[in-house]
Amino acid sequence: MGSVVEYRCTRCTFTSGQLSVGWGNDGRRGFWGALARCKVCQRLGVVDLNAREPDRGGRRCADCNGLLVLFEGTSAEIQCPRCDAALRHAPLGSWM
Ligand SMILES: [Zn+2]
Ligand SMILES: [Zn+2]
Repeated sequence: MGSVVEYRCTRCTFTSGQLSVGWGNDGRRGFWGALARCKVCQRLGVVDLNAREPDRGGRRCADCNGLLVLFEGTSAEIQCPRCDAALRHAPLGSWM
């Protein structure tokens, strides 16, 4: 079962929206969502680890083509893209 999570800032109104991470009934061969953050525009999103990685340069942001940083699981400490306060991770449910 994968989890649906949302990251909310402890200081401002930023939220990441619903993010689906982990893997569902298909196991890791299906969609395998990992949390990722763009180094350039700070966009927080999810990448499918099963999607083929480009040969060169790693995974890129869909918005600005910046390099993405991947996080392990949902326990990583992530800072708010707007104000640099810590984001709090809120479990919203699960997906299969
Ligand atoms: Zn903030
Ligand atoms: Zn970006």
